[in-house]
Amino acid sequence: MGFWWRPLSVLASVMLVALILWAGSGWVAALGFLAGVQAFVMLRRLWQEFRLARWLENPDEVDPPDATGTWGDIFYRLQKLQKRQKASRGELTSALEQFEHAAMAVPDGMVILNRSDQIEWCNPASRKFLGLDSERDRGQFVRYLLRQAHFLDFLDAADYSRRLVCKSPINRELTLSLQLVPFGASQKLLVARDITDLERVDAMRRDFIANVSHELRTPLTVVGGFVETLADAPDLPPGESRRYFDLMLDHTRRMQHLLDDLLTLSRLESAEHTLNDEPVNVSELAQVLKGEAESLSRGRHRVNLEVGSSAWLKGNLQEIRSALGNMVSNAVRYTPDGGEITLAWRERNGEGVFSVTDTGEGIAAEHIPRLTERFYRVDRSRSRETGGTGLGLAIVKHVLTRHGARLDVQSIPGKGSTFSALFPAQRLMAAPPSATVIPFPAQGQAAG
Ligand code: ADP
Repeated sequence: MGFWWRPLSVLASVMLVALILWAGSGWVAALGFLAGVQAFVMLRRLWQEFRLARWLENPDEVDPPDATGTWGDIFYRLQKLQKRQKASRGELTSALEQFEHAAMAVPDGMVILNRSDQIEWCNPASRKFLGLDSERDRGQFVRYLLRQAHFLDFLDAADYSRRLVCKSPINRELTLSLQLVPFGASQKLLVARDITDLERVDAMRRDFIANVSHELRTPLTVVGGFVETLADAPDLPPGESRRYFDLMLDHTRRMQHLLDDLLTLSRLESAEHTLNDEPVNVSELAQVLKGEAESLSRGRHRVNLEVGSSAWLKGNLQEIRSALGNMVSNAVRYTPDGGEITLAWRERNGEGVFSVTDTGEGIAAEHIPRLTERFYRVDRSRSRETGGTGLGLAIVKHVLTRHGARLDVQSIPGKGSTFSALFPAQRLMAAPPSATVIPFPAQGQAAG
């Protein structure tokens, strides 16, 4: 209403003046007046149209036209419209920028494909996983860049519920899960997720189950066989049945060791922090372990102990004892009769070092990095003969890691090995003033 009121009132005023002129001076004067007004209006309109055209051509640089009356209203409304558009363009730009930043930060590879499977856009992760480049490959057909047969089948099938698990075309170490997601009118989003770790964990789980089953199968078969024999032949001579019972006991113990080690590992894995940090008197523990080594060796080896530090450790006694005990029992088990085993506790470069040196068979260099893997054995039958489970060093590694310590293995095949547990300086402590003797609990198992 406000917009129309002004021109209507101007028109009414002009008509009124024209009528007055007609009544007072005749129609010639009235027509002359109207022609003058008409010329003025036309010129003014031309001028305002020129200003408007100039402003619309370059609204950001030219000042908006300023006028009164109807033209003022028009300019004012146009300016308001332009400001609103500018604001919403700004909002749109910032929303787009935010989307682009988010897409850049997404760890998954994302590729937007049009209806012909040409690349419209891709994020930096897609370069890492698929070797695509947003600038270089824009407009390219994705099938010419990723040409593996299984990928082409996957693309052609356009089955949005399916995932393709494959190796990255540019890095065979990476396992990817690819998925197509439809969006917009006819576009597709190709999402590439790195599932290397998941695959590795899954493979480890499968290996672990296979290993445990394999380890249990032999003793179970043996025990089962003897039970059947004894059931079928109840009148066996006592000497023979005694031998069968001893063998059954042997294999039952083997299963028991395996289960004990599995439970220890699972406990170590499920506890997030080192439990019950307490002062551990390492010299005294070393004495206890020396005694255990001697009883395991039954006089077949010479066992020495060298204590060069009076430092104690802050840690979990049970766990530390189990780890160092495994290192000691391995030395006994892998050192032929007549060999020498030396346990030592000393400080070196600020670290507390508990080492076990043997003159045993030694280990070839290529095996050393894998010794702490579960069920990894250099010589499977030797490990079994001596009651090994293949889990001892995995337990050692877990315990040491939980204490911020590490395992170092030096070995020369045919000459012997030194297994050292290196504890960081912050784990060392002076003997407490009232150094009470901490009773060492009996070790649950003797063999690693
Ligand atoms: P196992 O129960 O088989 O001894 P471990 O995890 O304790 O399992 O050790 C893994 C493998 O490392 C052993 O099977 C053995 O081949 C090797 N090993 C460990 N300690 C020694 C050692 N002191 N001398 C030689 N080989 C060793």
